[in-house]
Amino acid sequence: MDTTSFTKKSIGGVATMEPALTPPITHAQTTFAKKTKIGTGKSKTKKRDIPEGLWTKCPTCATMIFDKELDENLKVCPKCNHHFPIGSRERIHSLVETCTFEEMDAAMASVDVLGFKGVATYASKLEAYKKNTTLKDAVVTGLCKIGEQRVALGVMDFNFLGGSMGSVVGEKLTRLIERGTEKELPVVIISTSGGARMYEGMFSLMQMAKTSAALAYHAQHRLPYISVLTHPTTAGVMASYATLGDLILAEPGAMIGFAGPRVIKDTTQAELPPGFQTAEFLLDHGLIDAIVSRREMKAQLIEYLNFLAVRKKAAAS
Ligand SMILES: [Zn+2]
Repeated sequence: MDTTSFTKKSIGGVATMEPALTPPITHAQTTFAKKTKIGTGKSKTKKRDIPEGLWTKCPTCATMIFDKELDENLKVCPKCNHHFPIGSRERIHSLVETCTFEEMDAAMASVDVLGFKGVATYASKLEAYKKNTTLKDAVVTGLCKIGEQRVALGVMDFNFLGGSMGSVVGEKLTRLIERGTEKELPVVIISTSGGARMYEGMFSLMQMAKTSAALAYHAQHRLPYISVLTHPTTAGVMASYATLGDLILAEPGAMIGFAGPRVIKDTTQAELPPGFQTAEFLLDHGLIDAIVSRREMKAQLIEYLNFLAVRKKAAAS
């Protein structure tokens, strides 16, 4: 009681509430300093957690990388820039503005049309991959925002049957491209694939023509298509939509080709040049336009998309 009357005397009048508040604030500051000490205690517990994590050895430079660090670095080796495979969901997360991804045809799943029987049936393979990857097929498609631009985005996933292109991959991408045309949006497809899905025979080969036709229709509307090739992009996918981009980008070190090097060597009876079928070799020979590191991919895509949008506006006016 004595102290409150004391402050009242010194300031008085309307401001009586303030002096009563000011001294505790200065005290509070000192208690904040004490709180940070508690904070350092928390980081000690984090340090204790580290040894429980898993480590991955980089196949290029043999550095042991802590998995959490690798995830934070978008699965790129911080020492030598080796690009590890990345899942479709993680990649979408790394490119798209938060909460803008509206997935299309999420429930579409492959059917064993041919009743394919090999070492294992196609039906049993599909079941196993669905369970292990929690994906329905080898591509995820949807509309989203990358930077300021609305984009029709398709991202392939190598974890699902080697990113092979069956009816579902072809159909989902075709619907995506058609939606892009309808809504006048640029299309971005990030490819990784071993090629057409042999379990679907002719049905998978048809997808090459179907996706290419949808892209031709998209191009007729003077809309841009950016194709991003990641390790590996081969065979039927490489021979259709992956190399039809107005702009073709690739990740460093990605293997890109149609047939495998051994087949080409046997057919041509010639020695293949060093670095054959790598992104760097294909950049030198004019097949692709740029090599973009995964960590710079979003910023680069934003730059290209903004540039193309400005050009489109200028052409329209
Ligand atoms: Zn490395």
